[in-house]
Amino acid sequence: MAQAHDNAPDHPVHYQVPELTDSLEASLRSADLITTDRGRTLDFHGRRPSLDEVWALLAQVADPEVPVVSVVDLGIVRELVWAKEVLQVYITPTYSGCPATELIESEIKLALMQAGIAQVSMHQRISPAWTTDWITAQGRAKLKAYGIAPPEGSASKAALFGQVQEVTCPHCNSQNTQRISDFGSTACKSLYKCNACLEPFEYFKCI
Ligand SMILES: [Zn+2]
Repeated sequence: MAQAHDNAPDHPVHYQVPELTDSLEASLRSADLITTDRGRTLDFHGRRPSLDEVWALLAQVADPEVPVVSVVDLGIVRELVWAKEVLQVYITPTYSGCPATELIESEIKLALMQAGIAQVSMHQRISPAWTTDWITAQGRAKLKAYGIAPPEGSASKAALFGQVQEVTCPHCNSQNTQRISDFGSTACKSLYKCNACLEPFEYFKCI
C-alpha cells in the first residue's frame, strides 16, 4: 500500500490546525456545534485541559469503520503529550494500509478543535504494530453488544494456531459457528454464521 507513512516511519506526520480567527472561534464556541456533533459535550475553550480530560474526549470519538467503539476503545490512540501549548497525539493505525487511518486522524483533529484544543500535532507510531490485544475490555463489550464478535484469544496465539479458532456467537454465545466469508463489511472483519441460532454475524479478526 502506497501510504506515505510506510515510506518514512521515522518522520511523523505533522500538521497543525490553522490559527483560529475570531469568527471561527465564535462559531466553535456555540453550544450547538459542540453538543450536537456526535454527542460530544466536553468544551475546553479558554483553558488547557489535563491529559485525562483529553483522553475522556477522545474516548467519545467513534472509529469510522466500527462506530460503536471509540478510537480509545480500539487502542489506536497510544499517547498524549503536552509540548507547551501543542498537544502531541500518537496513534497507531489498525491494519497496515487501512484507508480509515486518514479519516481517524481527521476525526481526532476535528474533535480536539471543536473542544477548543487548537494546536495539535499528530504522529503515527507504526512500531510496535497494532494488535487486537489492545482493544479494551470496554471496547470488546461494546462490540459484542452491537452484534460483532470481538477478537478472541491473544494475537500471538492466533498466529501460532493459524486460522483455526473458536468464535463465539455474539447473540447466543454458542461456539457452534462457521465462517462464511473471510471479508465482512470491512477488511478487518469476517462474516460468520451461528449454527445454533442461525444468525449471521461479523467477527473482528484477531491480529
Ligand atoms: Zn447464535
